Amino acid sequence: MNPTWVMSYPTGYETGTYLALDMGGTNLRVCQITLTEQKSEFDIIQSKYRMPEELKTGDADELWEYIADCLMQFIETHHGEASKQKLPLGFTFSYPATQNYIDEGILQRWTKGFDIAGVEGRNVVPMFENALAQRGVPIKLTALINDTTGTLIASAYTDTKMKIGCIFGTGCNAAYIEDCGSIPKLAHLNLPPDTPMAINCEWGAFDNEHKVLPRTPYDVIIDKDSPRPGQQAFEKMIAGLYLGEIFRLVMVDLHDKPETHMFTGQDISKLRKAYSLDSSFLSAIEEDPFENLSETADLFQTKLDINPSGAELELIRRAAELIGTRAARLSACGVAAISKKKGYKSCHVGADGSVFNKYPHFKARGAQALREILDWPEKTDPNEEDPIEILAAEDGSGVGAALIAALTLERVKKGNM
Ligand code: BGC
Ligand code: MG
Repeated sequence: MNPTWVMSYPTGYETGTYLALDMGGTNLRVCQITLTEQKSEFDIIQSKYRMPEELKTGDADELWEYIADCLMQFIETHHGEASKQKLPLGFTFSYPATQNYIDEGILQRWTKGFDIAGVEGRNVVPMFENALAQRGVPIKLTALINDTTGTLIASAYTDTKMKIGCIFGTGCNAAYIEDCGSIPKLAHLNLPPDTPMAINCEWGAFDNEHKVLPRTPYDVIIDKDSPRPGQQAFEKMIAGLYLGEIFRLVMVDLHDKPETHMFTGQDISKLRKAYSLDSSFLSAIEEDPFENLSETADLFQTKLDINPSGAELELIRRAAELIGTRAARLSACGVAAISKKKGYKSCHVGADGSVFNKYPHFKARGAQALREILDWPEKTDPNEEDPIEILAAEDGSGVGAALIAALTLERVKKGNM
């Protein structure tokens, strides 16, 4: 759990123009956000740049240089003459980072398949700033932000019932606001006990000791073959990066057990390629009407050169359902845990990420699990809101990052930390 130095919810009256940078797994997004005079309103312009696959396992200097180039390009496009005044930037860096200040981020470990040498254990901000300085990019990093914190703050900007921010995407995680008096890591600072502090839970690392959750042989393989074995145990059961791979491992295992007769006599060499199926493959299977599963049959033919029988198609579908349902129900456990810890009986949870937004039934399965864990009575009216609702979030790594930059500058102006 990491204190993030985001120390209040937004009021809705924040103003100003900020840049936001989101270093995601597939894209690098740069935004310029103007928080307008009208309450809870904003304007945004943005550009997306591809995040080249090689960069994720390449060299640290190349990563920072690429990012600085994208920022430079953005400023040249949108500001013509590079502006003299340095623009404040909120940098969404969605990895576990230790922060003694909001403009510091000591990377604890890479997650989500990233594996770039020479960054873990170091503060990424100077590396980033050096690359900017070398190119003369007129930007001042104001805040380094986790995507979950951005999601929480962006969602709270437009909905004051929002108390938790979650990401269910390539990775998974959540943030909420705690009282400093309940944060042993900050006890040495002697802050007033009721000082609010957003906590990045890093719940993807829950049960790294493998003492709580039952694991399948497939979970064990996922972990062993990942760049960081022993890390992100919870995330590896839930997040989008892994769902397709869990499914693939199940299929290969069934084929290799002769007694199951799965895909007997078929060439499964394509299926043997690690990480060849992503979570959109599983989504497509779960979206296929159960009556004939023709879409699933097509997918197996075109992508894998496998012709499943009718019985095999049903098994494929059930396997996808199990993997998708486990992910949704485990995700709900995290939300329930924070709600119980904080005593939230009724609130909104802002969620973002490809799995939350695109994976079929993820929302309904999560809501059903929350109902069971928190023991709510059955609804009498199906349109009734649940006491705790997980809703689509506002744009955390754009608007959220801008708001956090605004809140930080405001705090500095007032002379508080
Ligand atoms: C990272 C978190 C991040 C989450 C969602 C995880 O792998 O450790 O910091 O919030 O992914 O992007
Ligand atoms: Mg992201």
